[in-house]
Amino acid sequence: MAECLFCRIAAGEIPAKIVFRDEKAVAFEDINPQAPVHVIIIPKKHIPTLLDLTDEDQSIMGYLYVVANHIAADKSLTESGFRLVANCKESAGQEVFHVHIHMLGGREFGWPPG
Ligand code: 5GP
Ligand code: ZN
Repeated sequence: MAECLFCRIAAGEIPAKIVFRDEKAVAFEDINPQAPVHVIIIPKKHIPTLLDLTDEDQSIMGYLYVVANHIAADKSLTESGFRLVANCKESAGQEVFHVHIHMLGGREFGWPPG
């Protein structure tokens, strides 16, 4: 979608610090990082929210977790671990309506989240 921020980042129309890219997914540094490592992992396919996922999206959503493992290795997070977060709609704090996983690492995280 032409007006979607994350589609435009995936297309290279808006600059971002890309950390992973292939034909199915893109990952880039969050512009407002909440941890030493804060990467946004997206499918190239425009899907507004988790509620819009269909059966045909099963493989791409699983693939995003495999991408996270590549980034964990690149960012030296395999020993310490990391947190993956996906916000769905307003109550959870979703601001960009293109499905994404936040990858957070490099510090300790509390539970439950705020
Ligand atoms: P959400 O709140 O939708 O789960 O997360 C959206 C994330 O996108 C936020 O953490 C926000 O900082 C990040 N973000 C918003 N606009 C931009 C941008 O233009 N570039 C990058 N790299 N990240 C952005
Ligand atoms: Zn999009």
